[in-house]
Amino acid sequence: MVGDATVVGAMTTYLDHAATTPPRPAARAALESWLEAANASSTHLAGQAARVAVEESRESVATALGCSPHEVVFTSGGTEADNLAVKGIAWAARERSRGVPHLVTTAVEHPAVLDPARWLAERGEVALTVVPPRRDGRVDVEEVLAAVRPATALVSVMAANNELGAVNDLAGLAARLSERGVPLHTDAVQAVATLEVDVARWGVDALALSAHKFGGPQGVGVAVLRRGLPVVPLSHGGGQDRGVRSGTFAVGLDAACGAALTAAVADRADLRARLLALTDRLAAAVTAVEGVRRSGPTDPSWRLASHVHLLLDDVEPTALALGLDAAGVAASSGAACGAGATKASPVLEACGLQGTPLRLSLGWTSTAAEVDRAIDVLTDLLPRLRTSRGSARRSAAAEVR
Ligand code: PLP
Repeated sequence: MVGDATVVGAMTTYLDHAATTPPRPAARAALESWLEAANASSTHLAGQAARVAVEESRESVATALGCSPHEVVFTSGGTEADNLAVKGIAWAARERSRGVPHLVTTAVEHPAVLDPARWLAERGEVALTVVPPRRDGRVDVEEVLAAVRPATALVSVMAANNELGAVNDLAGLAARLSERGVPLHTDAVQAVATLEVDVARWGVDALALSAHKFGGPQGVGVAVLRRGLPVVPLSHGGGQDRGVRSGTFAVGLDAACGAALTAAVADRADLRARLLALTDRLAAAVTAVEGVRRSGPTDPSWRLASHVHLLLDDVEPTALALGLDAAGVAASSGAACGAGATKASPVLEACGLQGTPLRLSLGWTSTAAEVDRAIDVLTDLLPRLRTSRGSARRSAAAEVR
């Protein structure tokens, strides 16, 4: 084991809630009480009790998201929920039309959306258009609409970007797409902890969530698939969840997912206000350091309250990662899912952004004291990490001026 395996270890200033956030007490309690659940498809009393726990959790999720419980499918996480929507809807369209359906997505999507879309396109199963983002990571509604063709079977645009924290106008996009009868899927994995996610109000047809981003356990998520939307399942088997997602119900995980979402939604407005203030303070202090720039939208309506994305000039990514570890700060110099931290981020490339990225993300356990410590550490560490190559270039530039 490397150090403390919990996310909020005694010595760690935890600024990586976008990668995973600690479980909420209600989620722990639900998981614990259903850890030894019977099979929720068994007809005996213990099985029926387990099934009730799953269905009650499904209702909680539906209430939290503004949809019907029949539209909620529990998955193994955000990745499966995204894959189910992208592949399942594309395959269903292919079956119906017997032609090659067209998909539209964006260059800032998580690999859980982009990779299945590209995989389908490489196999000739769909035609694919990937819409470029604006420089701040947001996606322009008009550009997405311009990419739509008569054969478009699905548009997938994320509610909020995991790296830059850029928030998109889902309601605006959904309204325009529904006029043209094109279904919209959204990856709301990063959004739901601090932003109101309402399936009916937004008018989206499919949506993906991951419980470990809002205080549930890792390994469980939600796919919302609106009634009447044809979806071919990814896996076949026992026919659970209306045949859309076969496999024994993960009773403890499903129950914990619903409990976490209910708790997250209950204090979401307060959390958002608190985190907007904390992230603004953190960003103001850290960008006072020379060579540190903030990226992503700054308008609070279009940025996640939880995220501060920075670009550092003349800092080696490996030195940054080691320096943060040594100082007891857990943060991300890329997306956690993109394994090698030093690999260039496709999202930043698509936005035309350069520099060493540092994402600081806060969550429901974050405190003002933790942010104060982060400010102390980062304002001391970041200037020390700037390379001599950088200073040579800076003094040369000063001479020419
Ligand atoms: N979508 C986004 C925007 C994410 O940030 C992540 C995880 O980081 C995922 C999907 C994948 O979710 P999971 O880890 O539950 O598979």
